[in-house]
Amino acid sequence: MNTKFETRINEDISLKFVKLLNRIFSRNKKPVELHEPIFDGIEHKYIKECIDTSYVSSIGKYVNKFENLISQYTKSPYSVAVVNGTVAIQVGLHLLGVKPNDEVLVPSLSFVATANAVVHCGAIPHFLDVDKKTLGINTNCLEDYLNEIAVIKNKNLFNKKTGRRISVIIPMHTYGHAVKIDKVLIIAKKFKLKVLEDAAEALGSFYKKKHLGTFGDVGILSFNGNKIITTGGGGALLTNNVKIFKLAKHLTSTAKKNHIWNFYHDQVGWNYRMPNLNAALGCAQMESLEKILINKRNLTLKYRKYFDRVNEFELFLEPDDCTSNYWLNIILLKKPNLILRNMILSKAIENGFKCRPVWTLLTKLPMYRNNPSMNIMIAKQLEKQIICLPSSSHLIK
Ligand SMILES: *Cc1c(COP(=O)(O)O)cnc(C)c1O
Repeated sequence: MNTKFETRINEDISLKFVKLLNRIFSRNKKPVELHEPIFDGIEHKYIKECIDTSYVSSIGKYVNKFENLISQYTKSPYSVAVVNGTVAIQVGLHLLGVKPNDEVLVPSLSFVATANAVVHCGAIPHFLDVDKKTLGINTNCLEDYLNEIAVIKNKNLFNKKTGRRISVIIPMHTYGHAVKIDKVLIIAKKFKLKVLEDAAEALGSFYKKKHLGTFGDVGILSFNGNKIITTGGGGALLTNNVKIFKLAKHLTSTAKKNHIWNFYHDQVGWNYRMPNLNAALGCAQMESLEKILINKRNLTLKYRKYFDRVNEFELFLEPDDCTSNYWLNIILLKKPNLILRNMILSKAIENGFKCRPVWTLLTKLPMYRNNPSMNIMIAKQLEKQIICLPSSSHLIK
């Protein structure tokens, strides 16, 4: 094929993508951002109340209220609100007994925070491949892999090659789509692994009608500005274990013993408790959650209407047994077009559509390049295929 001709075809595909977005968002103002929060509820009133009463920091009624709202919505018996999702993972791993020099199983396709939190516990991320159908940990090859590389001794799993203990697995629900979490739980039990569910992107997503983040020993949510709802910055730990709950609350608030006036701390704790001001924003956002989720599903329907008619791009749809929040809608590029990802992204962004690629695989980042990893064929392919589409809930109105 001559190169001029190739360039033409490539440009045609990029232009086709931009044209499609122009039609979908003909009535929206540009630029169309990837994911913006929406504050059209009672946010101002709750925030003002914090300021007026001076309860903006670690004491105030909104933190407990927010935790109750999260527990009610997710049906998690306990939840603990913290300053962000990353520290929620870190504290969760600590409470599941992760020790320095342990290995923790992490999907190679995830936001960097998942692996960083492991390192902040002194442990070592060990990377896994993902599944084309779910974008999360590939359960088809996990059992064989662990049988091959690891061995159980004294009720602990050890990496045969490194000699290190493998203590926890972190399934992450990519873009709000559920991992085959029941399979993960079965394999984890067999191999003596604890499960920390990274449901940072999955508030409002369910697997077989059960909220994501409530399957593992600990689950975490994030309320960063770009997530389904936001507290400015924030996160939560979910658990049904009362001991973990109490310790999480204690350790994230400097391990201070409750007393009217005395300062007594019985451990090295963290100052990770969510401030009242952030929780007030969260309480207001929770009142809008159902509406946000409906709008997001309607946006996906709209994308389907347009993308169903083209062959070059495949809109990703929720996997079996999952009701997804569709945090980010994505398309997958198909075979001869995998080299076009960057060109399509540049063209879209140039034209005011803030599309994004998936994260660079964690195994390619300088600090994780030499970490233990399985063969991550599918993750490598998905990295070339995924383009994230503008997905703010207000785009549909
Ligand atoms: C956002 C996110 C986090 C971290 O949450 P922060 O609140 O930003 O610290 C962790 N894991 C995944 C998969 C995320 O998307």
